[in-house]
Amino acid sequence: MAQFVEHAFDGDVHILRIANPPANTLRTEVRAGLLDGIAAANKEGARAIVIIGNGRGYSGGAEMTEFGKPRQPPSLPEVFEAMEQSKAIIVAAIHGYALGGGLELALACHARVAAPGAQLGLPEVKRGFVPGAGGTQRLPRLIGLEALKIIVSGDPVSGTTAGKLGIVDAVIDGDLEKGAVTWARAHAGDKFTMAKYRTDKIAGQDMAAFDAAAKALLARSRGQESPKGCVAAVRAAFTMPFDDGLQVERDQFMGLVQGEQSHALRHIFFGEREVARIPGMPADVKPLAVNKLVVIGGGTMGGGIAMSAANHGLAVTIVETSQDALDKGLARCEANWQRTVASGRLSQAEYEKRRALLTGSIDFDGAVATADLVIEAVYENMAVKKEIFARLDKAARPGVILASNTSTLNVDEIASATTRPELVCGMHFFSPANVMRLLEIVRGAKSSWVTIATAMDVGKRIGKLNVVCGNCDGFVGNRMTGKRGPQIEKLLLEGCLPADIDRVMEGYGMAMGPLATGDLAGLDIGAAVRKARGTVAPVADAIVAQGRFGQKTGAGYYKYDEKRTRLPDPLVEQIIVDLAEKMQVRRRKIDDQEIIDRVMLPLVNEGAKILEEGIAYRPIDIDVIFCNGFGWPAFRGGPMFWADRQGLAVVAEKLAKYAAETNDANLKPCQLILDLAAKGGTFAGMTGAAKI
Ligand code: NAD
Repeated sequence: MAQFVEHAFDGDVHILRIANPPANTLRTEVRAGLLDGIAAANKEGARAIVIIGNGRGYSGGAEMTEFGKPRQPPSLPEVFEAMEQSKAIIVAAIHGYALGGGLELALACHARVAAPGAQLGLPEVKRGFVPGAGGTQRLPRLIGLEALKIIVSGDPVSGTTAGKLGIVDAVIDGDLEKGAVTWARAHAGDKFTMAKYRTDKIAGQDMAAFDAAAKALLARSRGQESPKGCVAAVRAAFTMPFDDGLQVERDQFMGLVQGEQSHALRHIFFGEREVARIPGMPADVKPLAVNKLVVIGGGTMGGGIAMSAANHGLAVTIVETSQDALDKGLARCEANWQRTVASGRLSQAEYEKRRALLTGSIDFDGAVATADLVIEAVYENMAVKKEIFARLDKAARPGVILASNTSTLNVDEIASATTRPELVCGMHFFSPANVMRLLEIVRGAKSSWVTIATAMDVGKRIGKLNVVCGNCDGFVGNRMTGKRGPQIEKLLLEGCLPADIDRVMEGYGMAMGPLATGDLAGLDIGAAVRKARGTVAPVADAIVAQGRFGQKTGAGYYKYDEKRTRLPDPLVEQIIVDLAEKMQVRRRKIDDQEIIDRVMLPLVNEGAKILEEGIAYRPIDIDVIFCNGFGWPAFRGGPMFWADRQGLAVVAEKLAKYAAETNDANLKPCQLILDLAAKGGTFAGMTGAAKI
């Protein structure tokens, strides 16, 4: 049997190395190995024990696959009990990461040392629950109120910061194991007060200050339950004896871990790993080396894509049509970075490093000849794109991949303008491209696996979450949201105002409601698409006809003040009421559930069609797209998760009802939903994957 904890010696200091690659999660065998190791070391008269991680980090925490299953002994608290009884002091030596249960294990040691770059955190809140092994009680006892932010945000701190805060006793640069052994030997005779017994940081805490800090943190997590649970547990650390606080933590943990939000967060957590597995891609496909990226077009998207590359150490050149356009494009990137420097989130040195990686050129052929990969981000026009791809094909070295950032156009038709269609694919970024994590990688009919593997590799390197999908109008995300438009129009005519729909969807947890999002993106864009396609949207068209294009013109579905605060506009209400009268639609009160249903159902039906057609591999791919590119809260799990929770029979029934009542063909339940509903199935229960 593999050994999950290796036991080594350095004189009278014993070393327990957690060896459960890749993340050193605390599976049963690791817990048992630690328990045995502590007992054995004490038996052999060790003066100190160093617990360290093999490989890339200390420990990534609990084994998520053990969740929801009966826990095998020993439990972590049993290990902690043994640590407390240990005569030898126990020192955690942290490199890489100590997360969740991993950090809790370290907090239960007598002392901790860390490498400067290590990441220490309690990310449980992001999985929908609270730390479950004393983290909410020990961390405040070590560092006081600072613990609240770490636990409620779930964001890790570096080893250096942990040293300043007092989470670790020493920061060790260089060989950590050696340094930790030396440190442990030097301090073996010291008297340590374990975190559990410390009171100096919690005594006398001003609880009004605590509540104010908690309120500010909770304001960022609208609709989510786990941050509130974290606050309750940390509050107990300041107001209750250790064991009572532990009980509060336990109750919060048990209540939350069974809940729907935590289920949704785990669904997305595992989903984000699952989408990296591409069914059918041969295992031996290797991505091409890319050391130089060229982005054609330095507008909104091109600039953001270039910034993403430079932010992650990849050299990039923006190509523009004129010096003026190029200067403007580069200046926008600089201004964006400068704002981050001004806010203190980026150092001047790091800014300069990034800026040096970004260059610009108006020599199309010359710049493209230097590219290992090209991403085109010019106007959304097929003729323009084909002309550019024909030029790219001539200017780029043979074998270089040419990708388009198109949001709607046919990638195969774009590829047909080249002599290398196997090296063409879509790389569809989302706005703002330097911020949004999602990257839809569009596999054209002829795109080779090497092309897809290379696009995925570059996407990953520049901080994106790749989802590979098939070629169709709008690909996955935009195609689905496009089908929501008609229902939103109908809701407005039948009785809602923009603020009603946005209030309900933001209450559900969306970062921004659909109408406010339209105002942000620009209503003229949708209007231009409708014009090109010969479709109408009476309300949106009437609003655009008034010159209201959204935030950029100071008015759209809402009006905006100079701080861009959105305000309801009686003029918009008038436009809607007049239109409804003209179209003989009787306005009525529409309840919140109906709003949610009618905004979600078109997404779900289109998502199911996308699965039927093999545009997305799996339902989870769709949910991951929504949670990373469309402001969908991960704690709601995405549209397909929502549908499963409603029950697909209910979904099918409601789709049919609204299809008939609102005369919307988009809502006619598709065959996949009917089939799954008939056999009591779910999207999550679908096995296999589509062929793209
Ligand atoms: P934009 O108008 O802001 O930028 C386009 C830029 O391309 C302009 O600066 C223009 O000067 C430059 N350009 C035009 N022809 C060129 C050429 N021959 N050589 C070099 N540069 C040239 O447009 P955008 O919003 O950045 O959109 C670009 C592409 O990205 C479009 O295909 C669009 O559909 C897609 N997209 C946009 C968004 C979005 O939210 N804006 C999101 C995803 C994808």
